[in-house]
Amino acid sequence: MTATTTTTGPEPSASPDLSKPVGDPPLLEVRNLTVTYGGTVPAVRGVDLRVEAGQKLGIAGESGCGKSTLALALLRLLPATAKLTGEILLDGEDVLTMKWGRLRAVRWAGASIVFQGAMHSLNAVHRVGDQIAEPILLHNAKATPAAARRRAGELLEQVGLPAARAQAYPHELSGGQRQRVMIAMALACDPRLIIADEPTTALDVMIQAQILRLIEQLVADQDVGLIMISHDLAVLADTCDRLSVMYAGRVVEEGPARQVYAEARHPYGRALSTAFPRIGDPASRRAPRGLPGDPPDPAALPGGCTFHPRCPVALDSCATEDQELREAGGERRAACVLVDAPAADDSRSTS
Ligand code: ADP
Ligand code: MG
Repeated sequence: MTATTTTTGPEPSASPDLSKPVGDPPLLEVRNLTVTYGGTVPAVRGVDLRVEAGQKLGIAGESGCGKSTLALALLRLLPATAKLTGEILLDGEDVLTMKWGRLRAVRWAGASIVFQGAMHSLNAVHRVGDQIAEPILLHNAKATPAAARRRAGELLEQVGLPAARAQAYPHELSGGQRQRVMIAMALACDPRLIIADEPTTALDVMIQAQILRLIEQLVADQDVGLIMISHDLAVLADTCDRLSVMYAGRVVEEGPARQVYAEARHPYGRALSTAFPRIGDPASRRAPRGLPGDPPDPAALPGGCTFHPRCPVALDSCATEDQELREAGGERRAACVLVDAPAADDSRSTS
């Protein structure tokens, strides 16, 4: 699924302003975003996010916590059954109220997405170079097919593939190479924000590390913002500056990546950080502790704190009282009642 394959009509000339003076709004600010599928499935509930240019935000959470819904909502790429409320300010401009033409200009050029599982969705009958050239042609009325193909070759080199691989069909490439092609495509229109939804999940560990380093390098070189989504908190802690941990459609913990990974204040954040120990990290030598059960179905959320049925340190009150994000020490914020009682929290969590 891409924005460009479904669009028709003349391309608007307006493109996002790339030369904003300091002091202007952040690259992305999301305020109180909710997404409800079919009127009854609240997949994203009151999410706030902020990403500055050059900053890397990781979004962690198990499958079903609303991460992909959030990513797709940022560019209004969700099906019509999804109802969105709140604000998604891209360079201060609300994506949710943008006219269609403006939205098309912003997709790819303002922000682009490497979709979850996208490396399997390259078109099998087109050469990869032509597939990279497609958004360039769609978004730049002045680009000629020859210039777009040249640019596709340059983009392939930027992601570590020889320009000549533009002639290849997807089946001639490995999984890691196909993911590089998807990243080249995401870079094609010089976006200011790249959203990468589980970009390495289907790859083996060595290739995973190469792709992560590539993304890091590209973000550093081009001063773009990055939102990286993964269920693996260790991967995000290695790559990102800040982390938001999602559970049942909400951000339940956020803060500097290393702080959240090393000493999460929400029991769910702690469970995620021990589920994926970092290889070679002495601090994570403790055995990974599995978290029994699954995240709740958003159509049937438990009352109180939605994590309480799985929480190893839940109090009786957690079954009835929901918790808001609050200051949790350092620069962290967490939505847990035990944050207010650090001594009790620490003794219980290590037992
Ligand atoms: P994640 O990316 O964290 O795995 P998703 O955003 O894919 O989570 O899904 C969050 C919840 O929304 C899940 O319960 C999923 O079943 C539901 N969901 C996702 N897409 C749709 C859809 N198109 N219609 C209805 N429910 C959906
Ligand atoms: Mg997902």
